[in-house]
Amino acid sequence: TRAWTLKSRPTGLPDHDNFELCEIADAPIGAGEVRVRNLWMSVDPYMRGRMNDAKSYAAPFELGEPMHGGAIGEVIESQADGLAVGDLVQHMFGWRDSAQGPAAQFTKLPALGVAPQVFLGMLGMPGMTAWFGLLDVGQAKAGDTVFVSAAAGAVGSTVTQIAKAKGMTVIGSAGGADKCAWVKSLGADAVIDYKTEGSLVKKLSEAAPKGIDVYFDNVGGDHLDAALAVANDGAHFAMCGMIHGYNDATPVQLRYIMRIVAARLRIRGFIVTDFFDRMGEFYQDMGGLLAAGKLESRETVHEGLEAAPDAFLGLFSGENTGKMLVRI
Ligand code: NDP
Repeated sequence: TRAWTLKSRPTGLPDHDNFELCEIADAPIGAGEVRVRNLWMSVDPYMRGRMNDAKSYAAPFELGEPMHGGAIGEVIESQADGLAVGDLVQHMFGWRDSAQGPAAQFTKLPALGVAPQVFLGMLGMPGMTAWFGLLDVGQAKAGDTVFVSAAAGAVGSTVTQIAKAKGMTVIGSAGGADKCAWVKSLGADAVIDYKTEGSLVKKLSEAAPKGIDVYFDNVGGDHLDAALAVANDGAHFAMCGMIHGYNDATPVQLRYIMRIVAARLRIRGFIVTDFFDRMGEFYQDMGGLLAAGKLESRETVHEGLEAAPDAFLGLFSGENTGKMLVRI
């Protein structure tokens, strides 16, 4: 098996020297185990945190050890009941071309009639993040005005579409005209290109003349500050991520932070794993929206295991529209 290992820990933005592609010996599989050939792997912003040697909600990657992450593969050997050769499974042994282990660590893909890699995006971890973050954490309901940052990304584009399907007004922000046009085509009522000149507070006030009721934060920094500035009284903030600061430890000055008090904001952080026991609700609702043609899933694909670091690094320069994936 070829596997990407963490060679060194980055300071600031990671680069190729932090990764090393290694050959690891395959052991025979034992009773209750399977071997899987990986077809797709996911790269996700949270993996940046795992490259640090710091305690967080996901354990650090170990130096010199294969990295982990979401992947989709095909069972090629099985000594386990319930998983047969040819089954497509989802698991956490990404960053390598094959994986083996106890069958309990591999989940058969539900039959929802979509391409398998969609289970790494809209019907997978990012999709669940969007669905629970918007509807449970953010308490968003029909008629609300929702602001979502990184709206052309995996989570953000799903938030945009769920919110539209459920009768909300949506304002998205993204970097660049092409991404903004795509977010608009997904149904967003207004889209802000945060990379053009001008203050984000001004752009958001113009896009949301009646204020915002929900902010779905993927970016932090000046996006969070702008949301604080225009939030209506009692607005909900679903604090999902702050990619703006993942490679930069310089604290951001939030000029409007006092509005948390004045506007009685309800700000709640969450981690998608908090909701894994409610996956059934997610599949039922998202399955329905998909069948009704209300969801479009887009991917940016890098070809081959060798390209995995490129794909990962591309997340931080906004190279992806929709879900960033590696086809192995
Ligand atoms: P995306 O598909 O959204 O990819 C990242 C995007 O972030 C880029 O395409 C880029 O879009 C934008 N971006 C990158 N750097 C910056 C920057 N400095 N300032 C502003 N925007 C930037 O990733 P995901 O959908 O997988 O993740 C989105 C967010 O959700 C992340 O913050 C992630 O950590 C978080 N997350 C949280 C989870 C949880 O459980 N709480 C679970 C999953 C994700 P653009 O070109 O528009 O700038």
